[in-house]
Amino acid sequence: MQEKLVIGHFYPDLLNLYGDRGNVLALMRRAQLRGIEVEVRRISIGDNVSNGDIDIGFIGGGQDCEQNIMADDMRNVKGEVIKQMIEDGVVFLTVCGGYQMLGRYYEEHDGKRIECLGALPHYTKGEKDRFINDTIYEIETDGQTVTVAGFENHSGRTYLGEGQKPFMKVIKGHGNNGEDGYEGTRYKNTFGTYSHGSLLPKNPVITDMLLSLALKRKYGEDYELPELSTETEDLARKQAIDYINGKEGKASQ
Ligand code: GLN
Repeated sequence: MQEKLVIGHFYPDLLNLYGDRGNVLALMRRAQLRGIEVEVRRISIGDNVSNGDIDIGFIGGGQDCEQNIMADDMRNVKGEVIKQMIEDGVVFLTVCGGYQMLGRYYEEHDGKRIECLGALPHYTKGEKDRFINDTIYEIETDGQTVTVAGFENHSGRTYLGEGQKPFMKVIKGHGNNGEDGYEGTRYKNTFGTYSHGSLLPKNPVITDMLLSLALKRKYGEDYELPELSTETEDLARKQAIDYINGKEGKASQ
């Protein structure tokens, strides 16, 4: 059987900061190395998408002005389809601005409000000072605690809604809001995170988790993702974590 995954890259021309597209490339590469065919569709303003068209959706980060440009299309044109996909368990990875846009609203620091999709119950408030850090998080996956390296740059503080689950625990950095110690969110197979820079190329455990979720959804729960070395990605992650820890060591000397 020739497995195939279709990745829908939403608003790639507007939401693509700090190499967010690297996440799509990492998904593609780790799928193709396993002999899985991958097609990437760009889905921006004016492009049509229906539920059933894609197996994985990706939405990157953007500046406030770009979020203002795509908000109307996301809410009024693609909104119902994206909500249906999320409810049906399509895998989504959304980063920073894209993560904010899945929530109820984003209030910029000057009080101007962007009405977001409302697919998930979180909301975001911008402040004048930005959270800019190399970051370290921990996730629980397959009963194991895995250390993840990332990078954040956002003015928005995101607050999860009642019962909404976080994605990761913050070890270094600010995460959702700098207060509660959590980073991102997970609902069904939809993930939101503040981690750019890019998240997946350095953290293959997350790449493989997303591929596995998408392939099991498409080909049945018995589908097993073939083994694939993580040696190169692990080196990149280790280097990032050593750099972050080293920087902190220097600052405290
Ligand atoms: N504009 C949003 C903020 O500053 C998102 C920024 C981003 O995607 N990096 O919070």
